[in-house]
Amino acid sequence: MMRLPWFGFHSPKSVDEAARILAAEGPQAMPIAGGTDLLPNMKRRHQTPATLVSLRQIEALKKISNGSHITLGAGLTLNEIVANAAVREKYAGLWQAAAQVATVHLRNMGTLGGNLCLDTRCTAGSPPRASAASRLRRPTPRPL
Ligand SMILES: Cc1cc2nc3c(=O)[nH]c(=O)nc-3n(C[C@H](O)[C@H](O)[C@H](O)COP(=O)(O)OP(=O)(O)OC[C@H]3O[C@@H](n4cnc5c(N)ncnc54)[C@H](O)[C@@H]3O)c2cc1C
Repeated sequence: MMRLPWFGFHSPKSVDEAARILAAEGPQAMPIAGGTDLLPNMKRRHQTPATLVSLRQIEALKKISNGSHITLGAGLTLNEIVANAAVREKYAGLWQAAAQVATVHLRNMGTLGGNLCLDTRCTAGSPPRASAASRLRRPTPRPL
């Protein structure tokens, strides 16, 4: 059986808090969302962060807002994106890519942010992201 290495764990409630922890911990810390890619990589010792910063408790990352364009939070699971009627109607490429990722179990855990930030191989979100001329927003940590 492959075991995870030891690691520290934080579960911030806001993007600001997460950004501050990541900035303070430095390159040995990594964000984790669904863990579908990162945890197997850690078991194989391909990635060995000393600290994980979970994004799962951050409600702001789970929002979908509609205006002249759509804004999708990085913490939305792939199945939450598949279930959204506006995505299906207006962004069929993204919807189809998300719907075809792996299995329902993986789509229940895996997030849009995790898919885009994989350091390996396939990401269903990337071609639709590029073709839809979308923008990614990244927080900068504010001092305490
Ligand atoms: C069996 C299997 C089949 C798969 N098939 C496909 C497929 O057909 N098509 C496809 O596109 N993908 C596929 N994938 C990949 C899958 O889409 C990703 O594993 C999933 O989307 C990652 O999301 P996560 O939330 O679990 O990320 P995690 O494993 O939590 O994180 C992945 C990486 O992203 C970083 N990260 C996560 N969230 C953020 C964030 N908000 N900001 C900054 N960095 C972040 C983490 O630090 C880590 O480096 C497959 C994976 C598996 C295991």
